[in-house]
Amino acid sequence: MHILPELPYDKNSLNPVITEEGFDYHHGKHHNAYVTNLNKLTSDNEMADWDLKTIIKHSFTNQQTGLFNNAAQHFNHSFYWDCLSPNGGGSPTGEIAEMINRDFGGFEQFKTQFSDTAAKLFGSGWAWLVLNKEGKLEIQPLKDAHTPITADLNPLLTLDVWEHAYYIDHRNQRPRFIEGFWDIVNWDFANINLNGK
Ligand code: MN
Repeated sequence: MHILPELPYDKNSLNPVITEEGFDYHHGKHHNAYVTNLNKLTSDNEMADWDLKTIIKHSFTNQQTGLFNNAAQHFNHSFYWDCLSPNGGGSPTGEIAEMINRDFGGFEQFKTQFSDTAAKLFGSGWAWLVLNKEGKLEIQPLKDAHTPITADLNPLLTLDVWEHAYYIDHRNQRPRFIEGFWDIVNWDFANINLNGK
């Protein structure tokens, strides 16, 4: 049984980037629907006691698209909520700051490249910061429900750029939403993900 996680902060605390109404829909309806669908697809078969990552990898390999989409979206959203924080934003700190300097030449260069990737992703998808197999940081635009864990990459941060992620609070202005992300991005979570590898 998969469970919708509680948001790790108050629904009003990321205003105006994401408002309470934005969370009511994105977390309370969209994410919740993925969890409900995932449970319908897994509760009465051998997958009932599989962990989420195993279901994602298995359904990806076997091209069980409906199952993959719901399982991956549950993982992606659960991860995404932790990428945001009312205490976030500003320049990166700790090890992630050093790695961004090393692999992108500085925070401003990284920010521009990540923002461009998120803005140019056509249709629905996610902009990811991952640690690749060579131990370097990499920005990846992934369409729809796709997720770095099917390639065994270590996700560090993500930004949801599906229209449902910003339409309530920013209408069609995806670039404004992306700009707001830099005010709430959770560098502590990125550092935890680096060290939890
Ligand atoms: Mn979403």
